[in-house]
Amino acid sequence: MSSNAGIRPEEAAAAPPAPLCPARPDPYLPGSGSTAFAVLHYDLDLEVKLAANRLSGRARLTARVLGPVQRLELDLARLTVSKVLVNGRRPKKVSHRGGKLIVALASPLDAGADVELDIRYEGSPVPVRGLWGEVGWEELDDGVLVAGQPNGAPSWFPCNDRPSDKATYRIAVTTDAGYRAVANGDLVQHTKKSSRETWEYRMDQPMASYLATVQIGRYGLEDLADGRAESATRSRGIVRQHIAVPGPLAADARSSLVRQEHMMETFIDRFGPYPFSQYTVVVTEDELEIPLEAQSLSVLGSNHLSSSWEAQRLIAHELSHQWFGNSLTVASWQDIWLHEGFACYAEWIWSEESGSMPAAARANAAWKRLAALPQDLLVGDPGAELMFDDRVYKRGALALEALRRSVGDAAFYRLLHRWATEHRYGSVDTGMFIAVAEAETSFDVRGLLDAWLFSRGLPALPGR
Ligand SMILES: [Zn+2]
Repeated sequence: MSSNAGIRPEEAAAAPPAPLCPARPDPYLPGSGSTAFAVLHYDLDLEVKLAANRLSGRARLTARVLGPVQRLELDLARLTVSKVLVNGRRPKKVSHRGGKLIVALASPLDAGADVELDIRYEGSPVPVRGLWGEVGWEELDDGVLVAGQPNGAPSWFPCNDRPSDKATYRIAVTTDAGYRAVANGDLVQHTKKSSRETWEYRMDQPMASYLATVQIGRYGLEDLADGRAESATRSRGIVRQHIAVPGPLAADARSSLVRQEHMMETFIDRFGPYPFSQYTVVVTEDELEIPLEAQSLSVLGSNHLSSSWEAQRLIAHELSHQWFGNSLTVASWQDIWLHEGFACYAEWIWSEESGSMPAAARANAAWKRLAALPQDLLVGDPGAELMFDDRVYKRGALALEALRRSVGDAAFYRLLHRWATEHRYGSVDTGMFIAVAEAETSFDVRGLLDAWLFSRGLPALPGR
């Protein structure tokens, strides 16, 4: 498996991501994604009729073939495909069954060949059902929410749905007037035509398909830095932050997110530059079970608006996923602790920075709770069913706290910074983290993390 390890951030931002060729499908989602090709760019034009929950789309994919192929397999759930072109021509055959769109090529392609797929499709999108409940395209009371993790992307567009396949995106959504569509990246155009409005976004940094999203609602757009000098925040690396929120919730949202700028500044200090050009928090009128992260944006439910620690930790958690999860994305789901353990640790960093409670005290409390729970999973390979288990989050964070106590604060933050910078926009695994941590600290990180990640019994935390 190759990686983007050698690409400097400025190059990675401009160049298409290097295609990755995993030797095998993701063991946690063996039915998802194809290792025969990598997508470089998705160009999506979506027409959404809200009342009827109808979606008609045109997806143009630029892909690179990774080995000799006679057919290409894409992930697409229960939508109807009306037309497929490959490099502008009809393929030999197209079939669509069991969530796979199989395109038999008129002539075989060799490794390294680039191919343009042009796919038109339509239907009434529904979430994908799986081990983790329903994920993907979801109707709200008055709008749409997309929560793609881990395999919901095929509910709304044809894709190569493996987390190691990262691509750039253009997403244009045409929907009912009076609604705002929010997608990943920068809004580059907004047009109105009779009773329809089109919202066009560009995500120029590589993005995994599960992080692609569309949110539609009666949202107004609030600028979080409103009234303050932009130059002052820019010089600290803080990017523009917006809240997309229904009018009646706007005041609540502003006061709940009032510390987010300080959170971003804290994380920039600890993890390095914020990876994307802006950050939007969408607040749904509906209550949501959990907040969700997508690339360059997060989604909170109206029930997450509060100044309480429980709400603030979630706001910090989702923001930190922009570094850990979105910029650095696991190549395989078994390494999910590299997202969730880090995001949970980011909560504790914020707790410390905001004067709520030192990270060490949060860690001690989490250790006590974990000690009382069954110790029957491996954080470094929890299995598909348990990959979102809270014990993976907390024990992953405790592994980082154990590392911090072992190497000291200065070396610990240097290695987090180096990790997020060296592998910016890349695909990562646990071995790569250990390599960076050992290079930075000369400490036996593998020895320490083995006990936290790859054995079941809960290790003692080093004293502090
Ligand atoms: Zn998370």
